[in-house]
Amino acid sequence: MSNQICVVTIVGSTHPNELIGYHLVKKFEQFPELLQRDSFKCETVLANIKGIGTGLRYLDRDLNRCFGNEDLANLKLTSYEDIRAKQLNTLLGPKDRPKSDFIIDLHSSTANMALSILPTTKHPFNLKLAAYLTTLHPAVRVLLGVDCTQNAPRLRSLTPLGCAIEVGPIANNVLNADLFMQTEMIVHSILNYIDAENKGKSLPVPSTLTAYQSLFSIDYPRDSSNEIQAMIHPQLQGQDYEPLYKGDPIFLTFSGEKIDYESESTVYPAFVNEAAYYSQGVAMTLTQKEEIEIW
Ligand SMILES: [Zn+2]
Repeated sequence: MSNQICVVTIVGSTHPNELIGYHLVKKFEQFPELLQRDSFKCETVLANIKGIGTGLRYLDRDLNRCFGNEDLANLKLTSYEDIRAKQLNTLLGPKDRPKSDFIIDLHSSTANMALSILPTTKHPFNLKLAAYLTTLHPAVRVLLGVDCTQNAPRLRSLTPLGCAIEVGPIANNVLNADLFMQTEMIVHSILNYIDAENKGKSLPVPSTLTAYQSLFSIDYPRDSSNEIQAMIHPQLQGQDYEPLYKGDPIFLTFSGEKIDYESESTVYPAFVNEAAYYSQGVAMTLTQKEEIEIW
């Protein structure tokens, strides 16, 4: 059958300072029988190997931004992460005929992302799987549209089927047993789902998927020298995926002034106060909540 998924890859340490993915991959390497399913092969990969143990998100450049087609083809890019991206492209890609059929990229966030599933594309297989996962745990959220088209720079864009898992809140370079176990549960559920689909025994999937579609990101207020002028407002801290209405406070300046959300349209912020995004000019990503009919 041409639609069979033959190779599933679980990736940890794309960001080496996110320890859950690293330790879960190490656990799977120690107990490979945990990943065994009848109908496909499941492999593990540690992505940013040189960064492991440094406590850093990356050495030279964010590995999860090195997979754009032009960058992969550019031999003049010689940072460690650029070289590693090319190796991973050889191992799992290339994008037009990938060796891996399904990539699960394990991440964690300092934001209150709960158990976020970020489908790589809106392929019906990914959306049905995501809908299935929402039935398993009340903390599962499905976040769509974080750029993973074929020319996207993210690792998981090597193959159209797959997802990232973003769990949080958790500080960088620490573990959290609950989030570790929940991530492992999600991974097993994904493998079971794929196995059932491969065997033509689909698991029950709700007909509609509640998802959060990314709209755009907003930055912190900054002065002319790019210095941050405000913090996430305490009322918004930890409120990822909760509705944000016109007039709700989003920032608090250092002098105690609040800055409100001013648009008429209700949005649902995600990645609120994510540590890694300060340097990227992102205080949060605004999303809209959607009900998607999937069958
Ligand atoms: Zn990450």
